[in-house]
Amino acid sequence: MNLSLIEEKLKSQPKYRIKQVRKLIFQDLIEDWDKASVLPLSLREELKKECPLEIKHKMFDEGNTLKALIELSDGLKIESVLMKHTDNRSTVCVSSQVGCPLACSFCATGTMGLKRNLTSEEIVSQVLLFMRICKVTNIVFMGMGEPFLNYDNVMSAIHTLNNSEYFNIGSRKISISTSGIIEGIEKFANEDLQVNLSISLHAPNDELRSRLMPVNKKYPLKDVLKVVDDYILKTKRKVMFEYLMIREENDSIECAKELALIMKKPLYMVNLIIYNPTGKFKASDSKTIKKFKEYLEKEGIFVTQRYEFGRGIKAACGQLVTEE
Ligand code: SAH
Ligand code: SF4
Repeated sequence: MNLSLIEEKLKSQPKYRIKQVRKLIFQDLIEDWDKASVLPLSLREELKKECPLEIKHKMFDEGNTLKALIELSDGLKIESVLMKHTDNRSTVCVSSQVGCPLACSFCATGTMGLKRNLTSEEIVSQVLLFMRICKVTNIVFMGMGEPFLNYDNVMSAIHTLNNSEYFNIGSRKISISTSGIIEGIEKFANEDLQVNLSISLHAPNDELRSRLMPVNKKYPLKDVLKVVDDYILKTKRKVMFEYLMIREENDSIECAKELALIMKKPLYMVNLIIYNPTGKFKASDSKTIKKFKEYLEKEGIFVTQRYEFGRGIKAACGQLVTEE
């Protein structure tokens, strides 16, 4: 599906057509121009021939999660995941780039390198694909890629997702996860948007963090936390720190102690994520996670352990594409 081409085609049509077509695509969720009975037959035929509504994909059903491997117009592939929660909410985990340049050692996407940024349309299309299956209520930018290295397209996609002519998804239902791109966090603080911010922390000190996440050499912990504090001062919003539990890498009580020292601040929250093994690392066992969590709680840190917020057991993005 190519939205800009559709809008281009409608330029020669009366002005109200564009609104009509937007409603057909984003609210009526038609997948075939034959269903667009409000449009004149000739236009329908033309659109059918030149602007198919199909989003090329393969779907993998894993119970509560649906994974889509989507083929872009240039043949590159990305993945998106739908997570259905027990309370009728459903979250789509969208990709922001094809691959990622940041090469975190635990991440399947990181092994691919960066192929290219996604356009705003390609980001929105991931949500559209799942909307056609069920009502999507939440969006997280936790798929492939680093959203703050594709800042403008990600923001433009968020504005579209927000817009009542499209999906009307509230900002508070949208979260961005970043590995800690300082310029991105700075800009984001000035957006005047209620979109949630998550920071992928995964280690409580520079030595370990640089080993797991090379991006830490460019943006060390102290600088990242400083810019997060500025963000909180400006927006008064909570920030979620994601912490993957990787066996014998970052899951010791010493790590918990170091983590507690830097996380003890108002509006900081820690989310412990169960690691989905993709390469050389293993997941921490549940006993270790429990002890780690209890230590943080004892120190007064607000800790959650939600799979849905990161990429839980079955939902790690990047794996389908790298397996292919
Ligand atoms: N690049 C951004 C957003 C995409 S990654 C970032 O790093 O924040 C989204 C989240 O998934 C990050 O917290 C990342 O560390 C986590 N993740 C990566 N590989 C994973 C895996 N194998 N299992 C579980 N979570 C993983
Ligand atoms: Fe990129 Fe995020 Fe994966 Fe790191 S964890 S390689 S930043 S997608």
